[in-house]
Amino acid sequence: MKVLKFGGTSVGSIENICNVKNIINDGEKKVVVLSAMSGTTNQLVAIANNISEKASNDAIDKINKLHETYYSTIDNLISDKNLNEKVKNHVTEVFNSLVECTYKEFSELLENKIVAQGELLSTFMFNCYLQQEGIKSALLPALDFMRLDAAKEPDIKYIKQKFAEVLNNTAEADIYITQGFICLDANGEVSNLQRGGSDYTATIIGAAIVAEEVQIWTDIDGMHNNDPRYVENTRPISNLSFDEAAELAYFGAKILHPQTVTPVRTDNIPVRLKNTMNPEALGTSITSNHIENGIKAIAAKDNIIAIKIKSARMLQAHGFLKKVFEIFEIYETAIDMITTSEVAVSLTIDDDRNLDKIIAELEQFALIEIDKNQSIVCLVGHSIVNHQETYKLFQILQDVKIRMISYGGSKNNISLLINSKDKVKTLGKLNDYLFELVTL
Ligand code: ADP
Ligand code: ASP
Ligand code: MG
Repeated sequence: MKVLKFGGTSVGSIENICNVKNIINDGEKKVVVLSAMSGTTNQLVAIANNISEKASNDAIDKINKLHETYYSTIDNLISDKNLNEKVKNHVTEVFNSLVECTYKEFSELLENKIVAQGELLSTFMFNCYLQQEGIKSALLPALDFMRLDAAKEPDIKYIKQKFAEVLNNTAEADIYITQGFICLDANGEVSNLQRGGSDYTATIIGAAIVAEEVQIWTDIDGMHNNDPRYVENTRPISNLSFDEAAELAYFGAKILHPQTVTPVRTDNIPVRLKNTMNPEALGTSITSNHIENGIKAIAAKDNIIAIKIKSARMLQAHGFLKKVFEIFEIYETAIDMITTSEVAVSLTIDDDRNLDKIIAELEQFALIEIDKNQSIVCLVGHSIVNHQETYKLFQILQDVKIRMISYGGSKNNISLLINSKDKVKTLGKLNDYLFELVTL
């Protein structure tokens, strides 16, 4: 069976929902993972923020506006009178429960329950729409099988077993619809896979059922060679290896959740990126095949903080790095890049939740300098560290101040840390000289 995931834009308008129906209705049994309609999760996050700030009137205002939007979508999508009424009743119950949340004390769990409603709404509506269109579909509630373990990783063994059980207990259908993004935590409470997490849901299910293929349907024709939000003339890449896709997703290519390829790579399950608005386009195929082609793509990750840790005779004092890393481990803060010299180590993080505590601990034994508003620009391609053109990078970027470089961490990635204000210029220059064949 294949797993097909459709993102927010794909379920964000009547026209696109109709495209989704046409794409999935090909007579093959499949699992369909849906995101919330575009904009909904942002609104739900804003509602939760209002509740945490005790601005319940603002929250209720947003809830009412969203409620109206859903009513008009339902009227345009579902003409069958009984189904229209059924969906509206359900949606009204959801929005009433959101209003009730505004009277409650804010907590992380309350926020998680609020943001989960987007996917619950879109899947309910879509399932009823397919029924109206005479397509045999069934809902598989994600909270009945999708669960994280104590390390906040997907509990694949549990998911495998529960997914099979849920499938077994569900009436036979052609299209099994489930919610992306949402899950339970290790304590059985509602949680999620972080923003953009529906991609991850799709590959987790793909791994659980050892799917024939996982398809990620979105609003662009595959992974482009640079970030189309900041650079003109970007182009889709037809093939990527799991390693290359993982590097790009982790270092900022928004088209994929950072962890998307992790669950499927061991079983070699291919992932294909496709465009719901242009299904004919080839898209990007992600497999274990490596195609040597120099620098294939560039991505950038923002909101990076560089931390310089300076101490006399650092490297010769063995155990120094261990002491540093232990502090980041205690505060569950991942390190992205790292460079060392005899007297200092510089590293980067993107999670500043415990920054003050981390600095306080590091200051016990070292001098600390912090640079905020940094971006990691990541260049990806099979074995690019050995590629004959790679030396050009420094010529191309001679007028950009590079704060750190990571070269050789893997053969497929070179990362540069720059000030975020130079990001668009850097991406543009790299694009011109590496992909548009502008000569130096
Ligand atoms: P969905 O809602 O379908 O999950 P996303 O907005 O999460 O869609 O991801 C698709 C968007 O990712 C594209 O519209 C594009 O603006 C952005 N994007 C950023 N980097 C890339 C890239 N390298 N290739 C393609 N799209 C990218
Ligand atoms: N709806 C969630 C979000 O907006 C998950 C997703 O779209 O993948 O982040
Ligand atoms: Mg996404």
